[in-house]
Amino acid sequence: MSMKQYIDEGEKVLLHTYNRYQIMLDKGDGVYLYDYDGKEYLDFCSGIAVFALGYNNKEYNDALKGQIDKLLHTSNYYYSMPAIEAAKKITKAAGMDRVFFTNSGAEAIEGAVKAARKYAFTKDGSTDHEIIAFSHSFHGRTMGALSVTGNPKYREAFEPGVGNIKFAEYNNIDSVKELVNKKTCAIIMETVQGEGGIHPADESFIKEIRKICDENGILLILDEIQCGMGRSGKMFAYMQYGVKPDIVTVAKALGCGVPVGAFLMTEEVAENSLKPGDHGTTYGGNPFATTAINAVFDQFEKLDVLGNVEKITPYLEKKLDELVSEYDFLTGRRGLGLMQGIVFDTSKKTPGEVAKAALDNGLVLITAGADVLRFLPPLIITEADVDEMVVRLKKAFA
Ligand SMILES: *Cc1c(COP(=O)(O)O)cnc(C)c1O
Repeated sequence: MSMKQYIDEGEKVLLHTYNRYQIMLDKGDGVYLYDYDGKEYLDFCSGIAVFALGYNNKEYNDALKGQIDKLLHTSNYYYSMPAIEAAKKITKAAGMDRVFFTNSGAEAIEGAVKAARKYAFTKDGSTDHEIIAFSHSFHGRTMGALSVTGNPKYREAFEPGVGNIKFAEYNNIDSVKELVNKKTCAIIMETVQGEGGIHPADESFIKEIRKICDENGILLILDEIQCGMGRSGKMFAYMQYGVKPDIVTVAKALGCGVPVGAFLMTEEVAENSLKPGDHGTTYGGNPFATTAINAVFDQFEKLDVLGNVEKITPYLEKKLDELVSEYDFLTGRRGLGLMQGIVFDTSKKTPGEVAKAALDNGLVLITAGADVLRFLPPLIITEADVDEMVVRLKKAFA
């Protein structure tokens, strides 16, 4: 069967929740992907900020293969060495005390919200607590995560969601202050908004949020599902700001392709929130998934992934800034580390049409929000990869 025939068959049986690009990807190597016809694509998407290590990393692959032959799954009634090792590594990397492993980002958000509600309930016994979330935020597609997602387009048809959620304007501290009251138990935000259009938090904004939380006994939940795990140049983006959350959510690059997420918290939150019987998961943190986490942390160290992000970021920023000044349909650039976006004047050209044309020219890119083309390359890219990306992107612009 041809690639086109396979795609047509897929369209008959897959639920049509995505308007997929018309290619079927077959394998990956380093920063390149190959479709079923063997066509090569330079990947500046990483499966949406997932494959930080690039494809076909031998030591990562071997670690997974080894664990497959040993033990895949046990349930959380028992301990496993990979889970304990992964818990030690991620709590240390995040500067947090305790972790709960999940199967996805959305599930990590569900757990974080439950922990915050239970914490508030433990403190005062009432059940009418409020959570402040933000405009243009994205936290996932399950009901709880959707309820704190600030894009009405994703939410409307599924209302009513989880109650007592209020939305403030991102990077507008007054809009937050207006909503804070005695019932507020948590503020949830992405340290760098991803899907909403690559908006890093202003330093004064996130610091002020931390202060408001401290003064009012409110928990700060930072969603680092997209911007965490080294993408900003530090292990977690909040470390760029010198701000520490009470709860943090992680997923995407945490398993680099094996579906796994986590929410982490301080000892103070743990002691006063989720207790035996309050939360659970059948698969979450199983020996296979946590072996992936361990392999990811090992490779981060071995390949000095953080050092590479710090080294490459200024180069990528410079090249993107050059594009912005060269093309009249580009109006600016935003981002932190290897999470970057260029903003379009959509009356002249749309990021959607460019993303499509980029694929034709062997470059994988995705959009963010309505007017942003998003760059989420593997964290191991070189300057030569950035140069090649620019060559292919210019062809797509033409
Ligand atoms: C992707 C993403 C999620 C949801 O993660 P899933 O694994 O798709 O459920 C939540 N928050 C942010 C910031 C994300 O980028």
